[in-house]
Amino acid sequence: MSEYENNLKAANNYLERFKTNVTGHYINGQFTVPAGSKTYENTTPTDQSSLGQVVEGSEADVDAACAAAEQAFPEWRDMPGPARKKLLNHFADLVEARAEEIALVESMDCGQPIRFMKQAAVRGAANFRFFADKSPEAQNGLALHQDQHTNYTIRTPIGPVGIITPWNTPFMLSTWKIAPALAAGCTVVHKPAELSPLSAMLLAEIAQEAGIPAGVWNTVNGFGQVAGKRLTEHPSIKAVSLVGDSATGRHIMRQGAETLKRVHFELGGKNPVIVFDDADFDRALDAVVFMIYSLNGQRCTSSSRLLIQSGIRDKFITALEQRVKALQVGHSLDPATEVGPLIHTGHFSKVMSYMDAAKEDGATTAVGGIRREDLGPGNYVSPTLFTNADNSMRIAREEIFGPVLTAISFDTEEDAIRIANDTDYGLSGYIWTSNTGRAMRMATRVEAGMLWVNSENNRNLPSPFGGIKSSGIGRDGGDYSFDFYMETKNVCIAHDTHKVPVLGR
Ligand code: NAD
Repeated sequence: MSEYENNLKAANNYLERFKTNVTGHYINGQFTVPAGSKTYENTTPTDQSSLGQVVEGSEADVDAACAAAEQAFPEWRDMPGPARKKLLNHFADLVEARAEEIALVESMDCGQPIRFMKQAAVRGAANFRFFADKSPEAQNGLALHQDQHTNYTIRTPIGPVGIITPWNTPFMLSTWKIAPALAAGCTVVHKPAELSPLSAMLLAEIAQEAGIPAGVWNTVNGFGQVAGKRLTEHPSIKAVSLVGDSATGRHIMRQGAETLKRVHFELGGKNPVIVFDDADFDRALDAVVFMIYSLNGQRCTSSSRLLIQSGIRDKFITALEQRVKALQVGHSLDPATEVGPLIHTGHFSKVMSYMDAAKEDGATTAVGGIRREDLGPGNYVSPTLFTNADNSMRIAREEIFGPVLTAISFDTEEDAIRIANDTDYGLSGYIWTSNTGRAMRMATRVEAGMLWVNSENNRNLPSPFGGIKSSGIGRDGGDYSFDFYMETKNVCIAHDTHKVPVLGR
């Protein structure tokens, strides 16, 4: 049997229980399908077949999860850091033990190729280990000395928090968000994306198996407009962390206004990769291809705008065309697949609409632009490269979130900066040059939360992760995450030497 056939067989075994049982919620340590629940059908983007029914969380379901998170909070908050560290590291062990199941279920549920999802469990476990190890020091603050007073700060967990995640890499992003919240001492209500709910249920099972106390970790399935909305409005929830669309961020800010929610948003992007004439040609080419066509282009940090300097433009575009034509599109579980199906027919239609927009706006479709009919009913799009584009076109301004790259030519460093910054977004940017001074100048002036010089998206857990402009508010990673999930309190102690002001003596 080929590896592909093995994957299909194993995936079917793991998915069987989701197909035959309704996927419900995980609330207060119990898996539950509340009586009278409405359900919806979850399908796989590989061929649109059913992966089973999922509960549409109601406001009452969210209320129950929030009540559980509130009740569990004091005990979790007061658990000593070393004990939390041990528990969360144990959780990470159990994630790794289920690596194959997580990879296969995730691939089938969201369409991401197995070659990338194989790492999902390892990366998810690494997220937990990193924050678990920081748990004992999460409350540490600063000592701020004055002549006659000494100030020190302490951090305390903010309370129950809501975590709302998208469908593009649901397992990885859920662990990236939930790990620091738990390590900080917060309890969690997680609302996974409705289009990819399965790996969140695996996480909840692992939470139960690991012995994370009831109510500390709750998962409510359902739609953003009902379950997500209620979560962001709930008075018990002290902060909301969203990874999703910029429009969703705006909704959540409005929804959370009444209860003055602290919010952290990781939103969309239209990220530039800027390749100068003096770049290492081969490494830049590899990175340009990887950062838009990996993960089906459904990646917030994807470099969806290629800004290519005029001196190497023709040579670079020719080489790029060859590479894009050669990309292997196919079933998510085929180990040869480099680009899998897009998450959902609705999203597929949105991506395909840009094929027309490109023509209407006058760009050239150098490669792709069509549905891969030969691959059956799944959401397969041929990897697409638009050339002769300018930055005013819709394909250069709007987040397409698919394997679609828009190439724009520039002449000077100033041009590159102007085009790079001419966008509503500001998540990431990539600069390819062998001139260190130029790299430093670009790094200062390109408007983005994260810049990589001569690299693709390299992950470093202590580094700040997040965007500016419409790409987000706040930073994750290392201590930045604790700043979000914790309150800082200042304590000021007098040395008994200062003059206390006197009134009415
Ligand atoms: P989405 O905003 O449609 O959905 C994300 C989550 O928000 C889902 O769980 C959804 O149910 C929920 N939601 C929707 N409306 C809501 C509301 N009114 N109140 C509360 N919750 C609501 O995003 P998506 O389509 O699932 O994911 C793709 C988007 O995510 C892209 O824009 C992508 O760039 C972004 N993304 C950003 C990052 C980052 O780190 N910046 C990472 C991954 C994805």
